[in-house]
Amino acid sequence: MSAPRPAPRNGAAPRPTLAVFKLASCDGCQLTLLDCEDELLTVAGRVEIAHFLEASSAVRPGPYDLALVEGSVTTPQDAERVREIRAAARFLVTIGACATAGGIQALRDFADVEEFRATVYARPDYIATLATSTPVSAHVPVDFELRGCPIDRGQLLEVITAFLAGRKPDVPDHSVCFACKRRGTVCVTVAHGTPCLGPVTHAGCGAICPAYGRGCYGCFGPSGSVNLPALIPLLRRDGMSEDDVRRALRTYNAASFVEVEGAGAGGAGVKGAPS
Ligand code: SF4
Ligand code: SF4
Repeated sequence: MSAPRPAPRNGAAPRPTLAVFKLASCDGCQLTLLDCEDELLTVAGRVEIAHFLEASSAVRPGPYDLALVEGSVTTPQDAERVREIRAAARFLVTIGACATAGGIQALRDFADVEEFRATVYARPDYIATLATSTPVSAHVPVDFELRGCPIDRGQLLEVITAFLAGRKPDVPDHSVCFACKRRGTVCVTVAHGTPCLGPVTHAGCGAICPAYGRGCYGCFGPSGSVNLPALIPLLRRDGMSEDDVRRALRTYNAASFVEVEGAGAGGAGVKGAPS
């Protein structure tokens, strides 16, 4: 990680510049930054917000010290734009499932995008799109990926703080099960036989769903240690078909879970699933 420029002491030295960009996305991860409320003014005082259209119409040209990128690459213009962002950024962080794993829109990767285009739009010839929705890291080098749909505000603040301090972000890659144990939540799988993706999902949400008696939906993508051959028989035991399992894994983080499935786009089955 590049060390940031020193914070100004007397207004003479520049503050590190922060830029926030959006590709194909719903804006939810950018809203997480705006939702930081109490911390936002402090953050704004430590950095120069140079480009953040959700917050300000003021736009300053790069280079930027820190660029946060939300959204996946789904059009030729996105691909070109993300290369320009990379060239202008000393430190590029992708935020959210769209930017780190293609997002919900990556479900197109398992179908025929031409069929969608012809079915949905009256003038499909006006629509310029790629056949796939891919993570930013498939196009340019990325310095850090922050997972989640949407991202967690605490983890986002940690990443920005780490950048300002010139250190690596402390965002552990353990599973949601750790968060359940920490908050004293009774395991919904053990207690009620409810299917739950928590054992293979990256922590960050605070295990919200299990705390309300529901299984984890996998919003934060794969954790650092994923054991699908152990989990999938449990999901099947608790009532999920192989198709249910595949859909659950791919909902928010299709690109990432396909990597750990080892099946590839359009693969016939989920690795570890009984045939
Ligand atoms: S990751 Fe989820 S919340 Fe963030 S932009 Fe994509 S769809 Fe929206
Ligand atoms: S409820 Fe889900 S995330 Fe929580 S401990 Fe059980 S399996 Fe793990």
